[in-house]
Amino acid sequence: MSLLGDGSKSATRTPVRPQSASPKKKRHARAFEVDKPVVGAATLQNTPGTQGILSTCANPQCATGWLHLWRSRSRPVFEGGWNCSATCTLTRMEAAVRRELDGRRREAVAHRHRVPLGLVMLEQGWISADQLRQSLSAQKKAGGGRLGNWLMRQQGVSEKLITRALSLQWSCPVLTLDYYDAGAMAPMFPRLFVEAFGALPLRVAAGQILYLGFEENLDPAVAFAIEQMTGLQVEIGLIPSQQFQTAKQRLVCANFPHAELIEAASEAPLTRVLARALERSKPADARLVRVHDCLWLRMWASARTQSVNMVQTEGAGIEDVICSLVAG
Ligand SMILES: [Zn+2]
Repeated sequence: MSLLGDGSKSATRTPVRPQSASPKKKRHARAFEVDKPVVGAATLQNTPGTQGILSTCANPQCATGWLHLWRSRSRPVFEGGWNCSATCTLTRMEAAVRRELDGRRREAVAHRHRVPLGLVMLEQGWISADQLRQSLSAQKKAGGGRLGNWLMRQQGVSEKLITRALSLQWSCPVLTLDYYDAGAMAPMFPRLFVEAFGALPLRVAAGQILYLGFEENLDPAVAFAIEQMTGLQVEIGLIPSQQFQTAKQRLVCANFPHAELIEAASEAPLTRVLARALERSKPADARLVRVHDCLWLRMWASARTQSVNMVQTEGAGIEDVICSLVAG
């Protein structure tokens, strides 16, 4: 299932691109051109991702004078735009945090109805009404546990059938572990997402599609966030329980990028922490996306190129900051 098709969400996650230079800055650029005729007009263009003495700060409200810009640094770059000062980094981070948190309010409304697993299996004739009744009653007596597990343990239903039923329930494919390389997948996203959301990166096909496996409950919100962050198309599906657990064990032992976990009581301190991280690490590129109640900032030490589509084969040079808002 492709998550790129969601027009409304895509619209809200459009990367912040540097605004065109303000009239004031253009005037300064012209002044500079006169002083240093050797600099061609082309270098005055505001091109995302290029930094140099005449780069334009990506903060539309930037109040920094051109002389300062000229002498200034070329990092950090955040979402394709360079920030000339800590103040501009903070302003742009505020806008990005607001954009991501606005999306959260809209998401809370969406609810997806699914036919219960037991009914799917009954409908397919894979279990009898008696088997379902017994498993449901065992589940109730034990105070929980997945119904699929009870059907397997108590009624001898195969794991393969349970997974097939789950895939019908979710209308998604059953994925395989062919070509699974835990070490290559670890840099995809923070270990926390594997642990907290049960998302397992399986492989990247043709440098464009990331297959993301879940054990029981698909999490399209996680898939959407990963899609925004990596630029890859994310296809989600289910993995049979035992295979999932084995693959997960291998993954959590692999080398993940360095990650910092932060809790904040409100939006303002959260924004400051994220902006400070950008100022501290001075990444060549960085991006912010939301995953449920967490904001995920990923920073790349060296520039990513479009051709490799942000696919990384190792975690070196990647740094994650995961911030959650705690109700206070
Ligand atoms: Zn600025």
